[in-house]
Amino acid sequence: MKFASAPSQSKYDVVIIGGAMMGASTAWFLSAHPGFDGSVLVVERDPSYELCSTAHTNSCIRQQFTTAINVQVSQFGVDYIRNFRANLGGDPDVPDIKLHEFGYLYLAGSAEGEQNLRAAAQLQNENGAATEILTPEQLAERFPFYDLDGVRIGSLGTADEGYFDGGTMFDWWKRKARDAGVEFVQNEVVGIERSADRATGVKLADGSVIGCGVVVNAAGPRAAGVAGMAGLSLPIEPRKRYTYVVEAENPLDQDLPLTVDPSGVHMRTDGQYYMIGAAPDEDIAVAPDDFVEDLGLWMDKVWPAVATRIPQFEALRVVQSWVGHYAYNTLDQNALVGPHPELPNFLLVNGFSGHGFQQSPAMGRGLAEWIVSGRYETLDLSPFGFERIAQGKLLVEQAVI
Ligand SMILES: Cc1cc2nc3c(=O)[nH]c(=O)nc-3n(C[C@H](O)[C@H](O)[C@H](O)COP(=O)(O)OP(=O)(O)OC[C@H]3O[C@@H](n4cnc5c(N)ncnc54)[C@H](O)[C@@H]3O)c2cc1C
Repeated sequence: MKFASAPSQSKYDVVIIGGAMMGASTAWFLSAHPGFDGSVLVVERDPSYELCSTAHTNSCIRQQFTTAINVQVSQFGVDYIRNFRANLGGDPDVPDIKLHEFGYLYLAGSAEGEQNLRAAAQLQNENGAATEILTPEQLAERFPFYDLDGVRIGSLGTADEGYFDGGTMFDWWKRKARDAGVEFVQNEVVGIERSADRATGVKLADGSVIGCGVVVNAAGPRAAGVAGMAGLSLPIEPRKRYTYVVEAENPLDQDLPLTVDPSGVHMRTDGQYYMIGAAPDEDIAVAPDDFVEDLGLWMDKVWPAVATRIPQFEALRVVQSWVGHYAYNTLDQNALVGPHPELPNFLLVNGFSGHGFQQSPAMGRGLAEWIVSGRYETLDLSPFGFERIAQGKLLVEQAVI
């Protein structure tokens, strides 16, 4: 999709900073909301999307979270994916979105881990998720390829968990939003003008200032920097996450669920390959343009963990690897969504801590509702509000991988 370099107007009802997954979702849902007839500008610094989180995602969805709102968000996500074409107005050109349900399998290696998985499964079941707790014997029967030494239980999502083609969703949100009149420009927001309690405009890299009714911060791992332009502080930082696509000399004869090993390394089926993910040992804030890979991580940490859990994976060949950034909420690893209390027309859709792709339908819908009617009309996203930080009432998500 071609981006203009300059906006056609000097003022918009809504200016969205960042045109990747969250920006595109917000733009599309807004343009499709029956109560909205305003103008929308999306400002994206890099329409190649090479460096954003969206380009580095693993694009999976799960129901296994430890907070009820995250389970509810994912339930909507799965429903939205399954009915994608209808959700985009039934256009026959819009493809169905592939959902490969291999399930997530969390393994507990300690008494505390077991207790956490059991409590989480209960919460997930209460919220409609099909999570099953499996003993080592049941695990061995269903997945005979694991070495279960030290494993106390597994928690398996038996429905609505797996890979979905989020890239297609992203493309079509942009296209449909543009067709509905949303303007996308290639530019960088370098400043935010404000009065005491309102954002009044965004300053672009070319020096122009664009007036705004509402500003949406959809800047991913750069969200804290963008909020800082308005004098606001967010507990969000870019953190590196590694992905490896590997070929196995001895592939499994069944799907590998997205297995979250007690070591923190996770692995799953990926077509004819397998996809493996890990965090660095020193999990620290990095610059948003730091994509340098620690070449030792694979040999020192990742491959040993994988080959220990699945001895059949002794021989693996890395065919591709990359580093991406989580927009990591350092306080409770959950999203910050909705108006900032100090600047109520500055809306957040930030801090997804590695689970934002699957949450993007619910987030775009929720923000659109908020902009149109000042409240969430369907799923109440207020648990993600910034107020919880100010009040010290955190919404801790423990199932962060
Ligand atoms: C390795 C990895 C694996 C992941 N796996 C999953 C998964 O399996 N499931 C899942 O749900 N989530 C996953 N995620 C998380 C998910 O990819 C992100 O939550 C999601 O892509 C965030 O989208 P975003 O639009 O908020 O941020 P981004 O994709 O980072 O987009 C932000 C955009 O804002 C633009 N921008 C920033 N500042 C400015 C500015 N000042 N002016 C103009 N434009 C600006 C940037 O150029 C960028 O395009 C993963 C992430 C990583 C890194």
